[in-house]
Amino acid sequence: MSAASLSRRRFLGLSLGAVATFTPFGTLLARAAAPQPIYHLPFPGGVVWRIGQGVKGGYSHQGRAAYAWDFFMPSGSPITAARAGTAWMLKQSSDQHCRDLSCPDWNNYIVIDHGDGTSAAYLHGLKDGARVRLGQRVEQGQFLGLSDMTGQAGGPHLHFQVQNNNPTQYVAQSFLIGFQEVSDSLEGVEGVPLSRHDYRSANAVMYDFDVKDGHFYTQTNGKGGGGRGFRVTDDGDVQMWTAFKSLGGPLELGYPVSRPFRLSDTQHVYQAFQRYVIDWDPVTKQPQLGNVMDLLHDANLDSWLSTDREIPLEADFTAADKGRGWDDVIKAHLALLDANKDLKAAYFSAPDPISRFGLPMSGVADTGDALMLRTQRTVFQLWKHDVPWAKAGQVTLANAGELARDAELFSRQVFEPEQFLPEQLSGEVRLPWEVPGFFRPAGL
Ligand SMILES: [Zn+2]
Repeated sequence: MSAASLSRRRFLGLSLGAVATFTPFGTLLARAAAPQPIYHLPFPGGVVWRIGQGVKGGYSHQGRAAYAWDFFMPSGSPITAARAGTAWMLKQSSDQHCRDLSCPDWNNYIVIDHGDGTSAAYLHGLKDGARVRLGQRVEQGQFLGLSDMTGQAGGPHLHFQVQNNNPTQYVAQSFLIGFQEVSDSLEGVEGVPLSRHDYRSANAVMYDFDVKDGHFYTQTNGKGGGGRGFRVTDDGDVQMWTAFKSLGGPLELGYPVSRPFRLSDTQHVYQAFQRYVIDWDPVTKQPQLGNVMDLLHDANLDSWLSTDREIPLEADFTAADKGRGWDDVIKAHLALLDANKDLKAAYFSAPDPISRFGLPMSGVADTGDALMLRTQRTVFQLWKHDVPWAKAGQVTLANAGELARDAELFSRQVFEPEQFLPEQLSGEVRLPWEVPGFFRPAGL
């Protein structure tokens, strides 16, 4: 079997570097020396939003707000910095909106000072949805907060404008700018989004972020970016987020590939990650790594593992383990490692190999590309020649959590990515700061 066909079967060791590294916007460096400041669309890379009201829109983009854009986006959508600067003005205490010009100022806003006498205003943000603090330095493309429809808004959207600084106005006199990834133009300026057109951001993709009592990951949603993914959170007695961190986080376990779930015959709560499944025991209130490979065996999925993934069959220890003391059982299983010194060394490289990998459960099988040895919780792979994800002689671990998913060991629903919801937001960053009496243009 060739390396390419193995790759096609997604039988990969985890390659974290590839997903964790943000790709800088390609042409940014080339144009950085130009005197014109560069703006990016104010949301994460890959995301497409439609402009509602654009520049000099008849509804309310007039006067100070003439050079503004309303990006239609659902409440809770991430907003990113169009340009680097410092968080200068901020309000996030409101959860109200209205369409009436006479209603109070219910706008939440973030104003980023660009340091050259200009700033950008991001309006209608979610209550407690800011992700920067006042005075904080913000890089271009950095996560600023989440959108909503607070203030004067008929529906969820982000109002964005670039303006001349005025310390008493969070919406000051705007002027026309262009965005680097936009090809339309207006009034002789390139990069100007037009009403009722769709625009895709060329920012770095934002893969994961803090939520209430945990973290939200989109890396494994099958698309990259966007608002769908998997939450890892502490929920009452089930401390999955704490467990995930204590067991090594994404570096050791990979990203989550399932929601938390229970099996019918137990109160344990499970959550699958790329490499392992965390098994939370509500009685002891302790996590351990689940014996996924044993569960696959018990579910009669060994033949699928063997034919589809070339994973060795679990040796039958039932008779041999019977009547043995626990120490002898361990000894017998560990003796399986004597078949290969590299696999043995990899196994014992963990501080507590039995709790990390479980006991060895198979002999060493030669698949042509790799030598494989199965344990209760994972599969060791010693590569015989270079493959895209490993060098010859290197040992990797199978993504046992993904095996469980692909083998349909658990209900398919638990592997469905969930929509990120604003109420999942962390309440950690609460900024009570706001200045009453700012000028408020109508109908932003
Ligand atoms: Zn607007």
